[in-house]
Amino acid sequence: MIVCKFGGTSVGDAAAIARAAGIISSRLERQPIVVVSALGGATNVLLQIAEQAAKGQLIGALRAIETLRDRHLAQTQILLKDDDEACEDICSELSAMFDELAALAEALKTLGDLTPRSLDAIASFGEQLSAVLVVAAFRQKGIDAEHVDARQVMITDGQYTRAEPQVDAIGEAAQRIILPIVRAGRVPVMGGFVGSAQGTGVTTTLGRGGSDYSASLVGAALQVDAIEIWTDVDGMLTADPRVVKDAQLIERIGFEEASELASFGAKVLHPNTIAPAVMRGIPVLVLNSSRPEGAGTLITFDAPRRAVRAIAGKSGVTLLKVRSPRMLLTEGFMRSLFEVFERHRTSVDVVATSEVSVSVTIDDTTRLEALVIDLRALGDVSMERNRGIVSIVGSSLSEGGSSMARALSAIGDIQVHMLSLSSSGINLTVVVDGDQVQPAMQRLHGVFFPAVEVSA
Ligand code: ADP
Ligand code: ASP
Ligand code: MG
Repeated sequence: MIVCKFGGTSVGDAAAIARAAGIISSRLERQPIVVVSALGGATNVLLQIAEQAAKGQLIGALRAIETLRDRHLAQTQILLKDDDEACEDICSELSAMFDELAALAEALKTLGDLTPRSLDAIASFGEQLSAVLVVAAFRQKGIDAEHVDARQVMITDGQYTRAEPQVDAIGEAAQRIILPIVRAGRVPVMGGFVGSAQGTGVTTTLGRGGSDYSASLVGAALQVDAIEIWTDVDGMLTADPRVVKDAQLIERIGFEEASELASFGAKVLHPNTIAPAVMRGIPVLVLNSSRPEGAGTLITFDAPRRAVRAIAGKSGVTLLKVRSPRMLLTEGFMRSLFEVFERHRTSVDVVATSEVSVSVTIDDTTRLEALVIDLRALGDVSMERNRGIVSIVGSSLSEGGSSMARALSAIGDIQVHMLSLSSSGINLTVVVDGDQVQPAMQRLHGVFFPAVEVSA
């Protein structure tokens, strides 16, 4: 068995869905389980609809729903053009879901309040719609596909918008629901990103980009042979190709390196994707759905070691500094400090300490105000918004020291606010101004991955 996850662009329109069907057809012997994202951009639109409706802008929200409905129906009509009956059935099934979405938007307008729970209810429509559409398209192409409601399998806790998967319950549900479909020689198709809260069954989501995570959780639950992440680039590259034009394909990479890259800005994989695969030793492949013949990137335990594997970066990071000359060296200070972050469920990316202060970066500022109030009980707090982080990742980065010297000299005159080398020595991260992330990534990439000159 393998898991094949198709991201938003890989199911973005009829042509992409037809390509995905081709990929699955070529893998039927390997017993694929399919996980799909929402059609590219649909989740953003859904989140805007929720906001508009809650702000009372119902007409705008309903218009956006109609545009999204038209997009789904138009792609269905292209895909099912040879089967009027199936086309009519699927169009009415999708339309009924859009009616339900419109009713939810109206309810939100009346309530005038947008809770994380209602955000998830609305955001989940993207994957639920695409799963229905993809099943119909796959059947049209001769694949014996069956829709699996993600909410029956992806059991989570009740933290809306970033729910924690309940691994035992997912394992049990995957064995009970997905396995028999595979055993019957059919292809289960499930929406990613979406789940439901254990006990209540209320719809939850795993957080943005979470379909990768759904794929690896299902893969781990069923101990599959490989997890394939089909996306819009050739694999994991030496940097985000939107930032560094000549980024190169990484053919093999270690689990730990891939995980660091994902956590420090390489959006191609959701940061949590690797953990379930590592626990079961399942290889993860990142592949381009527009070029299925490409080798892609293979992520395993035993990738060859390299000083510098790739550069990642992200902006929109907040740097918090807590100064406490009296308390820093006292026992228990660090514990109290990190308890504050734990209490506010805010994860810390980079940490550096001095005699009198601790600096940390955070990505998620939804609970920043409450966090800072609690941190003030420990010392003086300063906050720097609009920072960014740039990370250089490689399994033997810290060996010998020359890579680090080259990295720092490449950064040159870009101001560095903080610097941290991970304890495993595979990740050197610098905190810079948000608008310096891209230039810093380009400079570092130029030094470690000089463009190969192609002579005419
Ligand atoms: P999907 O919808 O398939 O999940 P995403 O948009 O979430 O796709 O992720 C793919 C994108 O990740 C690419 O288009 C690319 O711009 C970005 N990206 C960032 N860093 C990297 C990297 N190191 N390698 C490849 N892609 C990267
Ligand atoms: N559709 C969701 C998002 O855009 C999940 C995903 O695509 O991974 O965040
Ligand atoms: Mg993604």
